[in-house]
Amino acid sequence: NKQKNVRNFSIIAHIDHGKSTLADRILEDTKALTQREMKEQFLDAMDLERERGITIKLNAVQLRYQANDGEDYTFHLIDTPGHVDFTYEVSRSLAACEGALLVVDAAQGIEAQTLANVYLALDNDLEIIPVINKIDLPSADVDRVKQEIEDVIGIDADDAILASAKDGVGIDEILERIVSDIPAPEGDPEEPTKALIFDSLYDPYRGVIAYICVKEGSIKVGDQIKMMQTEKTFEVTELGVFKPNPVAKDELTVGDVGFLTASIKNVGDSRVGDTITLANNPADEPLSGYKRLNPMVYCGLFPVDADDYNDLREALERLELNDSSLQYEPETSQALGFGFRCGFLGLLHMEIIQERIEREFNIELITTAPSVIYEVELTDGDVINIENPSLMPEAKNIKEVREPFVRATVMVPNDFVGPVMEICQKKRGNYVDMQYLDENRVNIVYDIPLSEIVYDFFDQLKSQTKGYASFDYELSGYQPSNLVKMDILLNGETIDALSFIVHRDFAFHRGKQIAEKLKKLIPRQQFEVPVQAAIGNKIIARTTIKAMRKNVLSKCYGGDVSRKRKLLEKQKEGKKRMKMVGKVEIPQEAFMSVLEMD
Ligand code: GDP
Ligand code: MG
Repeated sequence: NKQKNVRNFSIIAHIDHGKSTLADRILEDTKALTQREMKEQFLDAMDLERERGITIKLNAVQLRYQANDGEDYTFHLIDTPGHVDFTYEVSRSLAACEGALLVVDAAQGIEAQTLANVYLALDNDLEIIPVINKIDLPSADVDRVKQEIEDVIGIDADDAILASAKDGVGIDEILERIVSDIPAPEGDPEEPTKALIFDSLYDPYRGVIAYICVKEGSIKVGDQIKMMQTEKTFEVTELGVFKPNPVAKDELTVGDVGFLTASIKNVGDSRVGDTITLANNPADEPLSGYKRLNPMVYCGLFPVDADDYNDLREALERLELNDSSLQYEPETSQALGFGFRCGFLGLLHMEIIQERIEREFNIELITTAPSVIYEVELTDGDVINIENPSLMPEAKNIKEVREPFVRATVMVPNDFVGPVMEICQKKRGNYVDMQYLDENRVNIVYDIPLSEIVYDFFDQLKSQTKGYASFDYELSGYQPSNLVKMDILLNGETIDALSFIVHRDFAFHRGKQIAEKLKKLIPRQQFEVPVQAAIGNKIIARTTIKAMRKNVLSKCYGGDVSRKRKLLEKQKEGKKRMKMVGKVEIPQEAFMSVLEMD
């Protein structure tokens, strides 16, 4: 197929605006799938994605389209993940494209991630085709949304496509506009090879499957390839495209989007954003924009049953093969024993990994509250990074503690400006800017500590705005803060896994709250358990968990065996997520209780 008839594009949208539904319609209309094969939301493959209705792994599908000009076109539809944790992956998959369909819900209008995605598309110089979707809805307001697209995004919306992905309206026009508006890929097939890795996943039999887009030159099966960032070399064993089922090819050339395998044993050796070239005729410069991803949020993962430690290590090793942004190292906690300190791109990434460990590997976990990375300047001038609150040095050795801030963008209807600003202030935010999108909606910008976002910022935002707020953020740098470490003592002993970092102004209140909360969460033991919150040597709050009055089993009077067994089973159930710490049993929720403070 001719390079001038290739079109590489992506669909970008705020969550729920209809990206997956539209992708399905496009697959259907180009007959990529027979009706029988057509499963709804084909591109969201993993179970977890389906259940959560989000897209984690991006995909690339090759489609054939015969246009009204009589020519055959090859489309590559590249799917992007929709969540802020995966911004870099979105950016890399957009870098594989020349254009993007910008889907905006006709009733909702522009939301925070619409804008964030548009910026990424503009960064990558993409041609943007606005599509106003869900025009079938009674609440659709096409004129208002057009105006918003022009005012907020600054692109012409006169010729925006009016569509209903649900009813199949506007799909033909979309396909024609992809042909007419999006340029063909420009590279030269005779130049030294440059192929962008925009995603990769691990297959136990074939090793890493790298999703690539060839930007210059070509690659053949048997070629020696070199990863330009990691400098590792491999021999290509397999090339192919997704139609959407994988189809093997001998060669991929400029404009082609597909997959490559080369017995690569670790996704870390073929990082997203890296450039593949040929070992014997390498390109001078890699493609631009490569970025090594660093975790933003850390937490401890400990097996409930200490015997599962090795299984947990294996699970993490396996998941790491799949996900080069997951990081972990062994951690020993006095309270929880042997486990791992793990780094994640964000909270969603963290939840996904935890859930996969429990589901796919059947290991019960105790997870400690997530923490950001603090920068600590010591009195001797050294600067250290602290990603585990229990490792915070003693106050007398600290000159300054700095914490990461994010620039947060919140879009809300007028009525909620007050509550949103109140939440941002309460979360130690600094006001930056406020803009009216139209007469009804406002864009509010604040700089907020990442640790406050990690806590329950988004939940509060949703509940205070009845779900109308949309939210996006990006890391904006480190700033000094007056932070202290709070220790929690149970039965007189410091429980390292419960330590957390808090702003001094809130320390007293939080200490009291958490002591009360733990009193409720930790079940009564055979003896009285004092709960204390302390900063350094100073106890700032204290409660007591009263001793249990009677043993549950004594109620059975020894007679009714089946009842006794049921009770024992029930106790075991309840114990599942409990961890014996010294003489005290602590449930999983206790380790997360710090997240639900206000
Ligand atoms: P995504 O999160 O952007 O991938 O959005 P989905 O494609 O999953 O769609 C979100 C919801 O909107 C689903 O319940 C869809 O059925 C619905 N939806 C998608 N397109 C349309 C449309 O054109 N009209 C209506 N009424 N609903 C739609
Ligand atoms: Mg989707």
